[in-house]
Amino acid sequence: MTHISPIFNVAQVRKDFPNLHILVHGRPLVYLDNAATTFKPQTVIDAIEKHYKTETANVHRGVHYLSEKATAEFEGARDKIKNFIHAKQSCEVIFTRGTTESINLVAHSYGRHFLKEGDEIIISEMEHHSNIVPWQMLCEEKGCKLKIIPFNDAGELLFDEFKKLLNSQTKLVSVVYVSNSLGTINPVKEIITEAHKLHVPVLIDAAQAVTYHSIDVQELDCDFLAFSGHKLFGPTGIGVLYGKASLLNTMPPYQGGGDMISKVTFEKTTYNVLPYKFEAGTPNVADAIGLGAAIDYLQTFGLDNTLQHKKELLDYGTQALQSIPGVKIIGTAQRKTSILSFTVDGIHAHDIGTLVDNEGVAIRTGHHCNQPVMQHFHIPATSRASLAFYNTKEEIDKLVKAVYKAKKVFE
Ligand code: PMP
Repeated sequence: MTHISPIFNVAQVRKDFPNLHILVHGRPLVYLDNAATTFKPQTVIDAIEKHYKTETANVHRGVHYLSEKATAEFEGARDKIKNFIHAKQSCEVIFTRGTTESINLVAHSYGRHFLKEGDEIIISEMEHHSNIVPWQMLCEEKGCKLKIIPFNDAGELLFDEFKKLLNSQTKLVSVVYVSNSLGTINPVKEIITEAHKLHVPVLIDAAQAVTYHSIDVQELDCDFLAFSGHKLFGPTGIGVLYGKASLLNTMPPYQGGGDMISKVTFEKTTYNVLPYKFEAGTPNVADAIGLGAAIDYLQTFGLDNTLQHKKELLDYGTQALQSIPGVKIIGTAQRKTSILSFTVDGIHAHDIGTLVDNEGVAIRTGHHCNQPVMQHFHIPATSRASLAFYNTKEEIDKLVKAVYKAKKVFE
């Protein structure tokens, strides 16, 4: 059944994504790897092409027509992002290469400037490596300690354990909003409230959350929030760090170069204002514009109007996969997005991945840059079907059929 609502209609929406309509191994593609990256609607592709075809120029530098046009489009994209995440000001939106770079920016700038030996940083057991390794590097350099919020076997963070970890040594909390391997939606609002009681700033990794439902950074009251354009139906190579202006203003630049300065002499350099202080060098103009186009596209129906459809896909997919003998779902949290990780008894995830690919079904297999999650469950890897709003129950049926076929090969 295809979900049809007055505002959101899957069959209609699918027409907007050219990549959904290709053949793989001679079969219509079933793309279920949206947690890795999402397909781009034609409007995003058109926006990037238009920039390169007729509007190429560097930004913030020229007075000629094209430079002013490119600057307006680039800054317009920043404004769209500001509205999309409900930031107070556009200068709180910093363009980066993606979630990874956004987190590294905070670790390098905030972390190196404000943290010292003995300070503690709290992350969780279900972080993506990009929200583990930058903090480990910082801890190594500064002599800080990394504290880990554990999760239960359903994949839910243990909130009481988090409260026990918080103390006067805690200088930063950095947690994932939605787990990319388990699908868990974490209680980030409660985490932020608790951390703020001790005046500890909180960074939210929203790489998956931002594609799932609307986000209001002011309502959350997070201090930093990171996400990637390519998971939000936008281009690769562009992402965002949101930060409260009051915090960003206290932080030193992350990289030096053009655009991030106010005045340069050999004796002394002064820095530009936000957000440019954190955007050294020529930015990724085309892809920022592409990300703005992705946000425009999503607003034609509204991300929150896709929630019911994604919930139906999750319930349907969970039921269908669980009914296959030997299949076990990893990640069964009460609050979950449409991410389905699973193992199949006696068959390595990579074999499942390869065999279902032969049927035209694209899923991700491996540790999903979540090795501690795999360690928790004592497994090397999972197979993961991650569903976007453009997926259908018919596609889940094809996955299930392909898994049955894969099992046969091993019987
Ligand atoms: N955090 C989470 C939860 C993710 O899912 C990902 C991407 N898989 C990242 C961080 C890193 O994103 P990127 O590679 O786009 O920087």
